[in-house]
Amino acid sequence: MSDIIELLPDLVANQIAAGEVIQRPASTVKELMENAIDAGSSHIQLIIKDAGKALIQVIDDGKGMSETDARMSIERHATSKLKTADDLFALNTFGFRGEALASMAAISHLTINTKREEDDLGTQLQIEGNKVKSQEPEQCAKGTSVAIRNLFYNVPARRNFLKSNAVETKHIIDEFQKVALINPDKYFELHHDENELFHLPAGSFRQRIIDIFGNGYNEKLVPVEEETNILLINGYIGKPEFAKKTRGEQYFFVNNRFIKSPYLHHAVTNAYDQLLPKKNHPSYFLMLEIDPAMIDINIHPTKTEVKFENEKELYAIIMASVKNSLGKYNIVPSLDFEMEADITPNTLRPQHIEIPQIKIDPDYNPFADSSSSISSGSAYTKPQATPLEKPNKDNWEKLFTEQEVTIGGTADINIQTEDVVQGVFAPEWEEEQEVNTEDQSFSIQIKNRYLITETESGMMIIDQQRAHERVIYESCLADLSNQQVIAQQLLFPINISLSAGDNVLFGEIIGDLAALGFEIENFGKQSYVVQARPSLISDENVKDVIDSIIEELKTETNGNSFGNHEKIALSLAKRTAVQNGRILKQEERDQLIASLFACQMPNVSPEGKAILKTINLKDIAKLLED
Ligand code: ADP
Ligand code: MG
Repeated sequence: MSDIIELLPDLVANQIAAGEVIQRPASTVKELMENAIDAGSSHIQLIIKDAGKALIQVIDDGKGMSETDARMSIERHATSKLKTADDLFALNTFGFRGEALASMAAISHLTINTKREEDDLGTQLQIEGNKVKSQEPEQCAKGTSVAIRNLFYNVPARRNFLKSNAVETKHIIDEFQKVALINPDKYFELHHDENELFHLPAGSFRQRIIDIFGNGYNEKLVPVEEETNILLINGYIGKPEFAKKTRGEQYFFVNNRFIKSPYLHHAVTNAYDQLLPKKNHPSYFLMLEIDPAMIDINIHPTKTEVKFENEKELYAIIMASVKNSLGKYNIVPSLDFEMEADITPNTLRPQHIEIPQIKIDPDYNPFADSSSSISSGSAYTKPQATPLEKPNKDNWEKLFTEQEVTIGGTADINIQTEDVVQGVFAPEWEEEQEVNTEDQSFSIQIKNRYLITETESGMMIIDQQRAHERVIYESCLADLSNQQVIAQQLLFPINISLSAGDNVLFGEIIGDLAALGFEIENFGKQSYVVQARPSLISDENVKDVIDSIIEELKTETNGNSFGNHEKIALSLAKRTAVQNGRILKQEERDQLIASLFACQMPNVSPEGKAILKTINLKDIAKLLED
């Protein structure tokens, strides 16, 4: 039998590599822009057509390539940035794997125009399916232009997998913003289908943040600066009062590279400690400089996750300096000076680090003063604390102490316990009995979270929050297709200004929001005025809800086929449903249960979690068997 092992043809090997490096148009944007930065450019233009599906082009004024280098650049493992394995530990370029251009060449039609300063003529290279179709001398300016046309033309599976133009454009803008943010001393431009989305003159980091995210940021930023022997921090954090319910702009750059680090993220949010309302997220733009030998950036092919050698010290320093900045700018009334005293790794040993605690406020209700009562899809009003609530608790305590005290006489115990039990339950019990006799329904709430109701065969336990989410979700979906809701005019119209990326997504759903009862007018490039809202939400929550809808649109839904309507309905359901921990009155419980069973899928929450469980009599009896 003949031998069967063969080397993969280059094209196939490159297509496989492309699968890792190039997931979507935005990945090529990242690679091309990083190449432009590595080439020492100071003027970088990005041109996009049809959300990158037709064209992605980056034009720079960097050092350019020779004729031979241009040809070499599309070979696999061809790089000018890494000569020995040791160089890996002292990288100061973005690229080093020499894979990006080879990968792109394997899955698109690629054109490179490039010229070095010292050459009279540049060169133009056309590549298709990894093969050079032509290479000719070309009159061009110093620098390089790489144009990618028809991305994934020969990988239909990948092409079909792409999301809507709005979503792909949003991803492209995200990548563009990351590179532009960390290079404020360079000029950037982004054109999409003849529109200029960004025009960013060289300037300070602060100016760059404002140019990208809007003038509003000018008053929101507080500088953070810190120098220790292992870490240099430079950047800005958002004042606590501007924190948003949705994760806003949060950027860490390590040695000029954007990274994700849940651990360091926690260090920042921990520094805000008591300063933020619950569930609010601060913005931050922090540039960290660390000895490259202390980082391993090679653990992820797209290189956004890094491993730090001395993570715990970094955590402590970042947290201390953010606290320090918040304090300096008089944002913290009384600062924890202990943390401030001397910010060196020696004084901030890892044992200072607290394990993250989750604090939950069971009474928290973002819709506290909305006055509507529950109906299919409307928000709960928080019931006024009845005078019974407090005495109830006292009575419980009394119940136990009195039992202990009167342990001597049996008769006493009986009488006293009975009295107290009456005190605890009687008034509510009576109220329920009354309701019961009228409409035959019966339900109780336990731990302000679960509703229990009787069924023919036994009993049913219902998770109140998930149930309400289901009710709102289905009612929103119905509104979105019926388009017949009644909008409530806002007392004071609300202004919303969006970043360019969010604006692209928002444009896609503005019609749907109108169907739900939002009345939104465009007011200049990325600004809107909200005039009316659906009755489901209150005036104060309009901004939040819109933020959370945009946030939901951004999240990639793995596996499930959530379209825009489902995402809008889901974020409304999550934002407006009654929370666990809320006391529900009898009529609210009844109405919730009735609305739930009017739903098409009363069993599972919109996110697929169980809403209810039934236990039949037999099982109850079994529980009590000896
Ligand atoms: P890497 O960036 O990892 O080296 P790439 O495939 O992205 O790999 O690029 C291969 C080589 O092509 C780079 O090392 C560089 O020498 C050259 N190159 C790519 N883009 C540019 C550019 N815009 N300007 C100058 N040289 C470039
Ligand atoms: Mg590269």
